[in-house]
Amino acid sequence: PKLSGAEIRERFLNFYERKAHQRMPSSSLVPDDPTVLLTIAGMLQFKPVFLGRAPKRYSRVTTTQKCVRTNDIENVGVTSRHHTFFEMLGNFSFGDYFKKEAIAMAWELSTKELRIPKSRIWVSVYTSDDDALAIWRDDIGVPEERIQRRGEDDNFWASGPTGPCGPCSELYYDNCPEKGTAGADLGDDDRFVEFYNLVFMELDRDAEGKLTPLSAKNIDTGMGLERVAQILQDTPSNYETDLIFPIIQKAAKLANVEYSSADEMTKRALRVMGDHTRAVVYLISDGVRPSNIGRGYVVRRLIRRIVMKGRLQGIKGAFTPALADVAISLSDGCDPAVRKSAQRITTVIAEEEEQFSRTLAAGQKKLHDIVEAYRQPGSSSEVIMSGEDAFVLFDTYGFPLELTQEIAAAEGMQVDVAEFTAQMEIQKQRSKQARGQVDMGAQSTIDSLMGTMGSTEFLGYSQLEGEGKVI
Ligand code: ATP
Ligand code: MG
Ligand code: MG
Ligand code: MG
Repeated sequence: PKLSGAEIRERFLNFYERKAHQRMPSSSLVPDDPTVLLTIAGMLQFKPVFLGRAPKRYSRVTTTQKCVRTNDIENVGVTSRHHTFFEMLGNFSFGDYFKKEAIAMAWELSTKELRIPKSRIWVSVYTSDDDALAIWRDDIGVPEERIQRRGEDDNFWASGPTGPCGPCSELYYDNCPEKGTAGADLGDDDRFVEFYNLVFMELDRDAEGKLTPLSAKNIDTGMGLERVAQILQDTPSNYETDLIFPIIQKAAKLANVEYSSADEMTKRALRVMGDHTRAVVYLISDGVRPSNIGRGYVVRRLIRRIVMKGRLQGIKGAFTPALADVAISLSDGCDPAVRKSAQRITTVIAEEEEQFSRTLAAGQKKLHDIVEAYRQPGSSSEVIMSGEDAFVLFDTYGFPLELTQEIAAAEGMQVDVAEFTAQMEIQKQRSKQARGQVDMGAQSTIDSLMGTMGSTEFLGYSQLEGEGKVI
């Protein structure tokens, strides 16, 4: 029988408890750390310990950590393995064991406890990390052909521009062992999926980029629960695992489609809805409310994306609370606090959906007016809608270009895409300048949100608060 997500989580934590680790709870998605917007990894709650600024209560700890990574939003629903919200299982050593033991335990956990076939596991090490390579090859017995040296982008881990960091070694699962080892590249995402990262945390980076050794050698690891579930449940992607799929099935039912036989774009939309619903539920549970700044802005954007995807799939009426209910019902093993706040969570989501639905309706009316104006006798350009008009619909009413194009096409009109794109560029430049005064801590998060969702929100969010502008 295949292991459920809950069983995998328990096996991981239990395995490390048997290896003398203290099981500790996940910290909030709202970190106690001004340099990061949201909790992006299990190590975050231990950052002061790594830096030697807080006393350690235990030398060995294991957790399952709620994480949100908005920088992965473009990959959500597209790749088989990225989410905004995911659970990161971790084992930590604060000046206790180091490389050799961390690698040995990771291997035992993966191959004996979780029974991932040895022949399917490949590993990466940091380019110059001969130690780690030798441990994998000589102590563990991984054939050298399945060990690859990789550079800073993949194998040097840091939680941010400053703070604790170090070289890392990652475990990958091979989806296509029949392809053999010749010419194989761990960067080949169709073939390999990274599931476990071991960080040899021994350095501290300051604002100038200077690296100094930490007072102790530490271990920080992260294993993606959804990815391991995908591997062990042998599903096409993380999204079909028991951790998420019930939400997607609910969305499919509301949209009156069958997920398995749906076309790729529909599937993507349903996956996005499943992903974002989880993120929103946990974020609201941790006290974040939709707003136009910082974390609240992330929640607002995520809810609006769910609503937009749902509407484009033909879902009418309020539907986000129904999706949230499913996500809440799946939350127990990860965070028991979620169920206790169920009422509050669904109310917040419902209110945001309602407000955004009004904005969408206003946008539809605006679009209708624009089309009508072009129809006026004597109107010069009858078949091309200006990029400026399309931009107003996008910027003020949250209409993605594709939606405007679709509606315009139904009226026999085309949209000036080049001009729309130019407007977007101007917009980006302007908001870049404005953002300087807004929320620096959120910089990278906001950058990625801007990239995929676009918006002028940061030019004047205060007067827009409550107006429900833009997705
Ligand atoms: P990738 O290269 O696939 O983007 P990563 O190297 O950015 O992953 P790490 O920072 O090493 O990821 O995080 C540790 C583990 O957490 C990864 O090995 C993976 O299993 C999981 N993980 C990371 N990002 C995501 C995500 N967006 N969704 C789901 N799981 C993730
Ligand atoms: Mg990544
Ligand atoms: Mg990686
Ligand atoms: Mg990694």
